[in-house]
Amino acid sequence: MERRSDIPSVKAYLRARQAQGLRVGLVPTMGALHDGHLSLVRFAKARADIVVATVFVNPKQFGPSEDLSRYPRDLEGDAQKLASAGCDLLFLPDIKVMYPEGFKTTVSVRGVTEGLCGSARPGHFDGVTTVVLKLFSIVRPDVAVFGEKDYQQLIMIRAMVRDLDMPVEIIGAPIIRAAAGTLALSSRNRYLSVEDMDTVTMFPRILQDTAVLIEALRHSEQGATRETLRALTEAAKEILLASGIPSIDYIEVRHADTLEKPNDCRTEPLRLLAAVRIGGVR
Ligand code: AMP
Repeated sequence: MERRSDIPSVKAYLRARQAQGLRVGLVPTMGALHDGHLSLVRFAKARADIVVATVFVNPKQFGPSEDLSRYPRDLEGDAQKLASAGCDLLFLPDIKVMYPEGFKTTVSVRGVTEGLCGSARPGHFDGVTTVVLKLFSIVRPDVAVFGEKDYQQLIMIRAMVRDLDMPVEIIGAPIIRAAAGTLALSSRNRYLSVEDMDTVTMFPRILQDTAVLIEALRHSEQGATRETLRALTEAAKEILLASGIPSIDYIEVRHADTLEKPNDCRTEPLRLLAAVRIGGVR
């Protein structure tokens, strides 16, 4: 696996291969990699000849009170994992390479970035679209893979690509967990104490139970309405609080493609989306 940190050499590496007709897949990350990230690399590898992974802790997507300075970093570990997952090129720019002095542009998608995680993290999504568009310009991938763990982010990237007619296929990859029914793998899980890790096992369980109830209601004679779905998410909130999770940012049912509140709760594809906080970790 090649490692590069400057933009001209990444472009040179890729343009030479793209000129030979090779397809390029991109997996943007912030590092501290785990099996969730590596599953994205494998998805990309199955759809492209060359896979580029980026490790860049993007300051623009952190709010002033967020964990930029203590975000976990493990470059050597990341490089080894990427190489063994079949990554061909690791792009590791530093901040000055991505945002040189005089950088003035912000890329912003409206609508799908409002509500859900957008409420708790103002400016976060603009930071993501700005860096992802820049990575797309540098890499010119045929396909880029994003995880469904960050579902709103995935839908936002799809909207950006569609609105700007960008020639890249966006693939959403399913959530990877240590074991079925457990918390999604996340670089931030390492901040959780053993006790909090134990408490938070209720989070995926209750989400799963609520999703099952929603599906049952949708297929029942009574059918589902916005009100009945809301009653279920409210009940889930109560159970989560009672289980010791101190703070719930949101738990909502949305249209799976548009993230709008559902209109026809019986037939539309739906997603149950939630974010909670425990021990200072969101
Ligand atoms: P991050 O490094 O947290 O910015 O994540 C980089 C990419 O990996 C994003 O597209 C995430 O959605 C994805 N990702 C992170 N954790 C998981 C997971 N447990 N399962 C699937 N994808 C994930």
